[in-house]
Amino acid sequence: MTLTEKFARLGIWDVESVRENLSWYYSVAINQMPAKYLITRRIPCDIDLKEATEEELWKEHERLTQKFLRVWEKIRTRKIRLADLPKAFPSLMDLNVELVNRMLTHCNFCRWNCRVNRVDGKKLGVCKLGTRSNVSSFFHHRGEELVFRGVGGSGTIFFSSCNMRCLFCQNGDISRDKDRGIAFTPRQLATAAVLLRLEGCHNINFVGGDPTIHLHTIVNAINYLDQLKLEEKDIRYVSRVKADYFVSYDLRAKEAYYDGEFNVPLLWNSNFYMSDETMRILRTIIDIWLPDFKFGNNKCALRLSRTPRYFETVAKNHKLIYDWGESFVIRHLIMPNHVECCTKPIFQWIKENIPNALINVMDQYHPDSFADPRNPQFDEKRCGDIARFPTKGEIMETMYYAKELGLNFEEITFEKSVFGIRL
Ligand code: SF4
Repeated sequence: MTLTEKFARLGIWDVESVRENLSWYYSVAINQMPAKYLITRRIPCDIDLKEATEEELWKEHERLTQKFLRVWEKIRTRKIRLADLPKAFPSLMDLNVELVNRMLTHCNFCRWNCRVNRVDGKKLGVCKLGTRSNVSSFFHHRGEELVFRGVGGSGTIFFSSCNMRCLFCQNGDISRDKDRGIAFTPRQLATAAVLLRLEGCHNINFVGGDPTIHLHTIVNAINYLDQLKLEEKDIRYVSRVKADYFVSYDLRAKEAYYDGEFNVPLLWNSNFYMSDETMRILRTIIDIWLPDFKFGNNKCALRLSRTPRYFETVAKNHKLIYDWGESFVIRHLIMPNHVECCTKPIFQWIKENIPNALINVMDQYHPDSFADPRNPQFDEKRCGDIARFPTKGEIMETMYYAKELGLNFEEITFEKSVFGIRL
């Protein structure tokens, strides 16, 4: 049995709500459907990309997105096949590339909206990044949710630096050090993604830090995916940060293609502190979303993550992917002393605005970074309340509250105990 067949037969797909919510992702992962980027490549763009103003580009993007949605629907319902559509140049994919390259010159990738020119790099924004994208590591991640790690792992690429500044960051070594790892060009990033899929990963999982601040590199890399010829020098270079380089994986070309085209679901694993423009670009290329929902109010977000306008930004982006009918799973981390002020309002908001959304309620919070009393930089004044593990009582209260509200969290949250035996 192939890895794809094993993935397709996981018991979790028998759960109706999981299968329904993640149907697009599932179909792409097992190559029954083409990834969105392959469709985007076939939507012709009728504008001179270099001559047009940015306003004209966005107008064209809006028009082509509507076209993309109609084609996507026809492909989903099997009214047309990808092979019926010729590749276009320029296409909506090329338009995405042009737009992110322009956005980089007045950066509005995320809600900070710094408007700095990251190309000339004279002034830096909150993330402190210019054009360079460092990758800290990439590998087959076996610790993600079952629907993502499957049996071959989630092809996870960790980018350095972040646009939020969480005092308790559970990944501080990556998010606070923008120079961690090595710089990847779009072509090298595409090389890492293709390698992971060929080795049997079920998705390409862009994460960090946060991937949003590397939007230009990621979108340019996606533009390479279907035309990349793997080169030995690129493989050698990226392998320097391949954390599982010592594992010898079989290459499974048959499991990485749809109608002869490189195929893999692209996964956006993010804090969701993104601008409207970034959401519009990603809508046409991301197959599966994995957003964090951390704080139930702006006061906690400001004190613990030094991030303004958190709640309205992140809630709005969750609502968008729900209204767009996207495949997604929300992650919520239970934090000590924040069940009343954060967890409960978030759950209430989900119930009222995006019912049936799949949620992973995570209980693995540990005091880290500035919230760790063992750390010389421990900031007791600002994060004394989160300087411990959540108690069993807090965890139980959270789970019962989610149950009481009728949220869709059990299969994803408790998958290890529910589906462990079937694996
Ligand atoms: S990615 Fe966000 S934080 Fe970084 S410069 Fe752009 S708007 Fe600012």
